[in-house]
Amino acid sequence: MTTLTPTQQKYKDMARKLANEQLSKDAARIDKEAAFPVAGLRAMAELGLCGMTVPKEYGGLDLDALSICLVTEELARGCPSTAAVLMAYVIGIQPLVQFGTPAQKKAYLPDLAQAKRSICFAVTEALTGSDIATIGTTARRKGDGWVLNGTKCLIGNGAGADLCVVAAKTDPDAGHKGVSVFIVETASAGYSVSAVYEKMGMRGTTTAELTLKDVEVPATAVIGEIGKGSRYLLQTLDLARLTLGAEAIGLSQAALEESVAYAKQRVTFGKPISEHQGIQFMLADMATSVHAARTMLHDACRLHGRKEPFAVEASMVKLFASEMAGRVTDAAVQIHGGWGVVDRPKVERLFRDSRYTRIWEGTSEIQRLVISRGVLEQVVK
Ligand SMILES: Cc1cc2nc3c(=O)[nH]c(=O)nc-3n(C[C@H](O)[C@H](O)[C@H](O)COP(=O)(O)OP(=O)(O)OC[C@H]3O[C@@H](n4cnc5c(N)ncnc54)[C@H](O)[C@@H]3O)c2cc1C
Repeated sequence: MTTLTPTQQKYKDMARKLANEQLSKDAARIDKEAAFPVAGLRAMAELGLCGMTVPKEYGGLDLDALSICLVTEELARGCPSTAAVLMAYVIGIQPLVQFGTPAQKKAYLPDLAQAKRSICFAVTEALTGSDIATIGTTARRKGDGWVLNGTKCLIGNGAGADLCVVAAKTDPDAGHKGVSVFIVETASAGYSVSAVYEKMGMRGTTTAELTLKDVEVPATAVIGEIGKGSRYLLQTLDLARLTLGAEAIGLSQAALEESVAYAKQRVTFGKPISEHQGIQFMLADMATSVHAARTMLHDACRLHGRKEPFAVEASMVKLFASEMAGRVTDAAVQIHGGWGVVDRPKVERLFRDSRYTRIWEGTSEIQRLVISRGVLEQVVK
């Protein structure tokens, strides 16, 4: 069990209270209606959670990585979709926090921290997901500014965002070094939400296609330096992978708790199924898996806190926690028997939600690439 500082405990307790008293009660409706969690987002914003990563001078909470992950786990335990909405928001803010100019931070971060404006993060395209260097969206010079053209796909929170962090090619022949990142006001002429996807799980999140047709932005819209976009995005994703691990752990914890409660009251062969060793062993494996993932996550957060390299460990957390979530939610459905697969019980929703955690922000295969590179570099050294 990780020893928490008073601040870490405070935010964990705050998130648990919100999840128990509000988010978990609305989770089934949000899933059924594929409804954006408006009230949940408002409640998270009131607690300042939209500005979890934003420095205090810009009105944020400036929490450490472990606090952010504790909050995320608790929120996901209550409603994975609502937690994912917050995660997409935080991931969108992060390039500005880490690489924005002082003027950009001053212009955008206070409103974003207080959820007066919202943001999304747009890298993926129809032909490009895992390989950022091959994006087709372009940014070409026009006077002092830039003109953006392209279509972004599968963008979380893409439907209602006020701002969008857009990855575009400023030099089409330069591979990774040709990618730059722009902050774009979504009210700009030529910017549109061109589709919203129907989803199997995480149905409270909106996932959209965005079209940029001759969108003009000023020179001040470039985040950081031209040509460094790939590096910025990958560094942004390192922290994101910790939070997405926390998301997978939170929904797995919910599946475990639901299974324990069901196993104690469902009777077969004259006794609760919790007294059958076959079920006990499933619960034991589920609890062990959740604990292992949580321990890995907290260890990686400590590396982040000590400002030590943590990219490989972040990928290990994302890989292990998301694959663990698949196994744990599958076992939860199994423990519920036929009642696990009819009329949308909680464990069925968690099972569907869990499938997303292996895909977004770097698939399991991409995490294995990062991890194996790290392993091989250490061997070669
Ligand atoms: C609900 C949802 C929300 C999302 N939100 C966002 C968002 O906010 N912003 C954003 O930019 N994107 C977002 N995405 C996109 C997501 O990040 C991509 O779907 C993901 O990175 C995979 O890209 P792809 O779908 O193009 O798959 P591909 O890159 O085409 O990969 C297809 C398959 O090949 C595998 N593969 C690819 N390369 C290799 C390799 N070198 N070795 C072995 N296997 C490989 C992959 O693991 C996968 O199994 C979201 C996706 C979903 C589903």
